Amino acid sequence: MSVLSANGKVDLLSNGFDPTTVPAEPLPPVVASEGEIGNGGKVGGEKKREIVLGRNVHTSCLAVTEPEVDDESTGDKEAFMAGVLARYRKTLVERTKHHLGYPYNLDFDYGALSQLQHFSINNLGDPFIESNYGVHSRQFEVGVLDWFAHLWEIENNKYWGYITNCGTEGNLHGILVGREVFPDGILYASQESHYSIFKAARMYRMDCVKIGTLMTGEIDCADFKAKLLPNKDKPAIINVNIGTTVKGAVDDLDLVIQTLEECGLSYNRFYIHCDGALFGLMMPFVKRAPKVTFKKPIGSVSVSGHKFVGCPMPCGVQITRIEHINALSRNVEYLASRDATIMGSRNGHAPIFLWYTLNRKGYNGFQKEVQKCLRNAHYLKDRLREAGISAMLNELSSTVVFERPLDEEFVRRWQLACERNMAHVIVMPNVTIETLDYFLNDLIEKRSIWYEDEKVRPPCLAADIGSENCVCPLHK
Ligand SMILES: *Cc1c(COP(=O)(O)O)cnc(C)c1O
Repeated sequence: MSVLSANGKVDLLSNGFDPTTVPAEPLPPVVASEGEIGNGGKVGGEKKREIVLGRNVHTSCLAVTEPEVDDESTGDKEAFMAGVLARYRKTLVERTKHHLGYPYNLDFDYGALSQLQHFSINNLGDPFIESNYGVHSRQFEVGVLDWFAHLWEIENNKYWGYITNCGTEGNLHGILVGREVFPDGILYASQESHYSIFKAARMYRMDCVKIGTLMTGEIDCADFKAKLLPNKDKPAIINVNIGTTVKGAVDDLDLVIQTLEECGLSYNRFYIHCDGALFGLMMPFVKRAPKVTFKKPIGSVSVSGHKFVGCPMPCGVQITRIEHINALSRNVEYLASRDATIMGSRNGHAPIFLWYTLNRKGYNGFQKEVQKCLRNAHYLKDRLREAGISAMLNELSSTVVFERPLDEEFVRRWQLACERNMAHVIVMPNVTIETLDYFLNDLIEKRSIWYEDEKVRPPCLAADIGSENCVCPLHK
């Protein structure tokens, strides 16, 4: 079998590790350049650099085939499918063991919920208003929302929220609420914000200003001030990161608020959305961490449910102030409910998984897990530095940034996420010291091969994590 690639060439179907293959759909370039993924062209001048894309799935996809006439009697097809699934399950077990780069907690046991997989549970519409579709889980959803409202200190009758399909949906919703409150507002976000923020800006056609960051990855409030002042006659919609994607940096919410005030924007002239996708549920349990709370003038907070919390399907939580949501809502007769969400149908299983895990762990359970993650992250960073490898760990974070491995196969084996000269490991509750040792030994061994020849040098990370964290030949 072979596929035609977009440029008309026949791709030979190898199963090798070829990072240069791209989807056969209309994407002919081997690499994409960052400029194309920016914020709608608002900020120019960034140097284009190459991005390595993953393998073309067409080389390994599982075809759907028509059943044969006699399949039902022979059972051949059933047996074939059972074999495919059994092999797939094996790869899942193996891939789960070698996962370090994405902030997904893979440690959970939801066996008690398997009895529910036979139901099509759907919470379409507003969580607080039943729809005519009865196979729903709103009683779980609102219980979970109340738990988060309590965590972020807003009373039950003052908030509105829902369980989203992911952290991105929370961001899309938070920015939309901001835009509905201030239709002529300008969106401000640090350049290290998640790409979903800039996607929101493009979708809603909002003016978006990118703010510079400090070496840690936090928003640079001096730059924020400089970019806010010329626009201070327009309302501001600000994305504040509670844990950036690459470096796990926490923006200083208090300093952002102070900067807004210094520029003369009063509370009724700005809207703050807090993107807590990664760290929103870890921060409350870190001693000394600044507090995310609705007692401060913020408009919304979102978090991913499949990251630290450990849901087996993508989901998230979005909480905002109830007074904001009316601008966005429409009653829908067909639903007998209200529409204020981004999506229509909503996963009704996710709230039950969240409810189950929140009940089992509670505040204390999460606190213990957060402490374990931070301890293990420090262990990893220290051992990397002992081995002469550039590494950085932000104070409130379990994201260890280090030198990008030379070999893409190694990156894929450990499922690392890379940007520029950096790679990172995000220490989640399922990542044990044993896993980290296994990984470290593998890395150290491979490096001795990659850098055996003096001519090949490890990358310099001074521009990414600061020269004090870089031990490349130039900085050590
Ligand atoms: C992961 C992440 C998101 C997006 O969350 P998804 O659940 O993957 O959609 C948004 N912001 C930050 C900072 C993240 O780390």
